[in-house]
Amino acid sequence: MSGARTAEMVIGGVDKGLMFGGKVLEAAGGSTFGVENPATGEVLCEVADATPADAMAALDAAVAAQRSWAATPPRERAEILRRTYELLMARIDEIALLITLEMGKSLAESRSEVIYSAEFFRWFGEEAVRINGSWKINEAGTGRILVTHQPVGTALLITPWNVPLAMPARKVAAAAAAGCTMIVKPAPQTPLTMLMLASLLAEAGLPPGVLNVIPTTSASAATRPLMEDRRLRKISFTGSTEVGRILLRQAAQNVMRTSMELGGNAPFIVCADADLDAAVEGAMVAKMRNIGEACIAANRFYVHAGVAEEFTERLTARMSRLRVGNGTDPGTDVGPLIDAAQRDKVAMLVGDAVDRGARIRTGGAVPGGAGYFYPPTVLRDVARDSRIVKEEIFGPVAAVQTFTTDDEAIHAANDTEFGLVGYLFTRDIERAIRLSERLESGMVGLNRGYISDPSAPFGGIKQSGTGREGGDTGIDEYLDTKYIAVNVAGP
Ligand code: ADP
Repeated sequence: MSGARTAEMVIGGVDKGLMFGGKVLEAAGGSTFGVENPATGEVLCEVADATPADAMAALDAAVAAQRSWAATPPRERAEILRRTYELLMARIDEIALLITLEMGKSLAESRSEVIYSAEFFRWFGEEAVRINGSWKINEAGTGRILVTHQPVGTALLITPWNVPLAMPARKVAAAAAAGCTMIVKPAPQTPLTMLMLASLLAEAGLPPGVLNVIPTTSASAATRPLMEDRRLRKISFTGSTEVGRILLRQAAQNVMRTSMELGGNAPFIVCADADLDAAVEGAMVAKMRNIGEACIAANRFYVHAGVAEEFTERLTARMSRLRVGNGTDPGTDVGPLIDAAQRDKVAMLVGDAVDRGARIRTGGAVPGGAGYFYPPTVLRDVARDSRIVKEEIFGPVAAVQTFTTDDEAIHAANDTEFGLVGYLFTRDIERAIRLSERLESGMVGLNRGYISDPSAPFGGIKQSGTGREGGDTGIDEYLDTKYIAVNVAGP
C-alpha cells in the first residue's frame, strides 16, 4: 500500500461533520472549510463549519446529557476512558499519520503525541474512581463536616493546533472522569484529529451528548453565545494569552470556573557547572520538540559566559544535522511550521535579532518551494532588547545569550509577563534548589528538557495562566467542593 493511498484512507475514514448528541451533522446552511497540509499547502479535505446556532445546539445536547453522565457510576466512566486508551494505542499508526498530515510534525513525534494523549485517558480513568471527600467533627463538637465533590457541569474546551490530540485529550479525559459533559472547539487548522478522537470515544462507549465537537472558522462568534449562557459552567482554554484574556472577561459575566493554559517564554539556563552533554540533549528536546511550536518550548537560552561558546558549538552541530522535510517522509526530523503567517513571524523575529547584532550560527534562511518550512537555527550574541527575547518564537530557533552571575540569570529569566516553565542545568544541588525556587514559573525542568507527564500538574503562573492539567489535582479543575453541615447535638 503506498503512503499516499494510506493518507487518503485515513482522511477518508474521519467523520467531517459537527458531532453532537451522538450524531454527525452538517453545519446550518451547509458551509464547510478546507484543512490544509502545511508540508504541501494542499487542501486535505473539507470539514463542516459550525455557526453560532450550531454551537447552541451542541450546548443543548451537552446540558441534556449532564445529569445522567454525572450519575453514571465512576467505574463505568473509568472503563470508557480505559477503552479509549486502548483504542488510541491500537490505532496509533493511523492517528499519528492524521496528526502529521494536518499539523506537520514528523511521524515519530506524532506517535509520541498519541502515546502521551492515550496516557491521559488511562490516568484520568484511574482518577475517576478516586474522587474523595472527608468527614470530620466541627470545632465546637456540635456537628459534623461532610465534604464531597461534584462535577462542575457542562464545560467548553477550546484547543490550539500545535498538539491537536494531546491538548483536547487532557481536557476531555479530566472532564469525563469528573462527570462533566462538554463542547470541544478544536483549532480550525487541525480539526480532523479531534473528530477522530470523538469517534474513538463513542466507540469506547461514551454516551451521546457527553462530548460534542464544533469545528469552526468563526471561533469568537460561535463561542460567545455559549459563554453568555448560564448553563455553561466551565471554560478550559489552551492558546494565546491574548485570547485567554478575552475569554476570562467573558467568563466573568456568569462567574464561570476557568482553566487557562496560555503563552510561555521559557528561559533555559545553563550554569558553568552544568553537565554540558545533558544540557545540549535537554536543549534539543526543549527547543525542537514539536518543531518549537510549543508553549513550553525553550525560548531564551541563558548560558554562563564560561561555557557559552562550547554549548553553542555543540548545539549548532546537533541542530544543523537535523533533516527538514515533509513529516510523512521516514527520514524527517523537522516538519513544516503550521502556516505562512507562522513562518513569516519566525523569519521576522530572526531578522530583528540580527539587525540588533545577533550572529547566525546555523539556519536563518527561508527555503524556496511549497510548504511552510523554516530551518533549525541557532543565534548567538542576541541583544536583550530583541523581540525574539520578549515574544514566543513558536519555531525552531535557539536564541543564545550569556550571563556571569546566578542573580543576573534569574533576573533575566524572570523578566517577562509569562511564567509557564523554566529549564535549569547545574550539577550543584544547592544551586539547583535555590534557582528552581526563584524561577517564576509553574514548572521547572531541572537537568532535563522534557517535562510533560500525565501524572504531573502542568500549568503556569503570571500571564501563562491558571489551573493545572494532569497530576493529582487535574480532576479538581472539573469538580466543585460541597460541604454539608450535619447537626449532631450532644454525645
Ligand atoms: P494560536 O495563536 O496558537 O492559534 P489562539 O489563542 O489564537 O492561538 O487560538 C487558540 C484557540 O482559540 C483556537 O481554537 C482558536 O480558534 C480559538 N480562538 C481564537 N480566538 C478566539 C475567541 N475570540 N474566542 C474563542 N476562541 C478563540
